[in-house]
Amino acid sequence: AGMVVLAATPIGNVADASERLKTLLAHADIVAAEDTRRLYDLANRLGVHVGGKVVAYHDHNERDKADGLLDQVESQDATVLVVSDAGMPTINDPGLAIVRRAIERGLSVTCAPGPSAVLDALALSGLPTDRFCYEGFLPRKHSERTQYLRTLQGERRTMVFYETLHRIAESMEDLLDAFGPNRPMALCRELTKDYEQVRRGTIVDIRNSVQADPPRGEMVLVVGGASDKEASEAAPNSLSIEELAVLAI
Ligand code: SAM
Repeated sequence: AGMVVLAATPIGNVADASERLKTLLAHADIVAAEDTRRLYDLANRLGVHVGGKVVAYHDHNERDKADGLLDQVESQDATVLVVSDAGMPTINDPGLAIVRRAIERGLSVTCAPGPSAVLDALALSGLPTDRFCYEGFLPRKHSERTQYLRTLQGERRTMVFYETLHRIAESMEDLLDAFGPNRPMALCRELTKDYEQVRRGTIVDIRNSVQADPPRGEMVLVVGGASDKEASEAAPNSLSIEELAVLAI
């Protein structure tokens, strides 16, 4: 029977491609790729011949394309492989639309797991990994970023943020404002690549390091969660039971 397979692709080091990914690239009936040129480039580097039809499947067309792809899963028993430019599809990348529609239509979905910058950075950060939250990219606008970070002031779990070199300097100022200077954090850049680097320190250490030596390439920020004291002092980000009770009267 046909199915959808979400497959992770390398985030820098091509040797992280799994055997399963290679087999799927060679044998899937359809490969739905975020960027078809990058897909062929990856296949070339892996020495794999892409056997099936390759279609573009990205943020701008994923809702429109999902049902057409699933029609082929349903009527032709097709295997549709979904890959993004790097890492795990659906994690700040296309993929969610086809997963949702497949679930709604009762079609099979599975995953060929592999690299993703979230877990790589979390594990290398040295911060607690037993509970963490993935925060994706912070809002672009300074005012929204500041407001959003306020809602995280009482968050006890280790927080993982994706970041770009264009905004890292501003984001570090905002993290410093929101969480103060002393929390531990890690800036993890160019993971799995030749110039992989992890800078660890307090928030103010990393802010200073970013000012002195602006980091290039791709990066993930991992920030320690609130202590008991910080959590109890933080502005509540939602209404407490008491506040709700007052509103209900
Ligand atoms: N789907 C991907 C995943 O599973 O990690 C994430 C895609 S998102 C559009 C791209 C962001 O992921 C980058 O801005 C960066 O924050 C992070 N990232 C991806 N590869 C990375 C790497 N090799 N080193 C550090 N961060 C990386």
